[in-house]
Amino acid sequence: TIAIIGGLDYDLIMIANRIPEGGESLLANEYLEALGGKGANSAIATYRTCHKKPTDAYETPIIEARVQSSDEQPENTDKQALEQDDQNEERSYDLEISVRMVGAVGDDKYGRRFYAELNKNGVDSSGVITVPNTQSSICFVMVENYARENRCLFTLGATATWTKEHFLKVEDLGHGLRPDLCVAQMEIHKEVVEQMIETAGKAGIDFLLNAAPANPITKRTYRHLTHLLVNESEAAIMSGRDLDEVNKDTWAVICQEFLNRGVKNVVITLGAKGAYFATASERDHCLAYKVKVVDTTGAGDTFTGAYASEYLRQKETGQWDIRKAVVRANKAAALTITHLGAQQGIPWANEIDRFNAP
Ligand code: ADP
Repeated sequence: TIAIIGGLDYDLIMIANRIPEGGESLLANEYLEALGGKGANSAIATYRTCHKKPTDAYETPIIEARVQSSDEQPENTDKQALEQDDQNEERSYDLEISVRMVGAVGDDKYGRRFYAELNKNGVDSSGVITVPNTQSSICFVMVENYARENRCLFTLGATATWTKEHFLKVEDLGHGLRPDLCVAQMEIHKEVVEQMIETAGKAGIDFLLNAAPANPITKRTYRHLTHLLVNESEAAIMSGRDLDEVNKDTWAVICQEFLNRGVKNVVITLGAKGAYFATASERDHCLAYKVKVVDTTGAGDTFTGAYASEYLRQKETGQWDIRKAVVRANKAAALTITHLGAQQGIPWANEIDRFNAP
């Protein structure tokens, strides 16, 4: 079991021709609601990237509306392709890996929807608690029709009630079970994340920190990290640099600093440039795959999910080849950004196996 511990939010999305100026009210073209948050997106990505796409796979209805408003058509499940996937020698979905979301929601209408949304996506929602008298985390997203940049404002909601005391015991990490791997982002209080990492480390449980949004953690916490995943701006913040100091001349140096603090595997994702990885014995730059970019929302979450599921898959077969995981995560993230929306494009295991782009 992989436990994804982190933020769940409801995205309330307005799409308009442009973003209003201060003091201005503007008519939006469309309004949508969708399950979001780095925690939820990574959980869905982790699940999909180690399972074969079912013929009746759940498609987020909300995104269909967005797809119809553009020139794209919703993709149909191609039965023949799915059957052929089982003949593929590079099959990556034979091991049963379950994904449990550990999170907190408010006792409001959004809170109640999270459970069903996660379950429909294959994610076990039994680690999600409803905190009385709180609101769920909400994210207001403003999307300019043709620009690919979103503007977001979010509240922590129920997750803000988490304190260090919530994660003192191993069972707390998996909400009653001992996970094989914990994955967390930083949409929660930093001290809570540090406590989770420490509890996992002391119990010998692998921990993957996707430090997004970045917030430097205390130095002694790093030694408990099996994996640290950051993008370039997060690498800058976590290593105390300016963004322009993160470039191809410093990737190795930055990774080495984290390795020196005790992290076992460090990955810096580089957007269209791919990803750089480093361990004590190996380091390299893996190029990104060339695709037609539609919407890069969720690229990092998909990368995290694909990397996490591949790590556990390899671990269960008794080996660890970080390059293979980075290459697979690059493929998964490339596939995701060819679709609108954070979740719609997250590929399934067989779709990544099948993907052979330049
Ligand atoms: P984040 O989304 O967290 O800011 P990045 O921008 O580094 O993270 O993107 C994460 C990953 O998504 C990259 O490592 C790469 O695999 C993939 N990716 C992002 N942008 C592109 C692109 N334009 N072309 C191909 N792959 C991309």
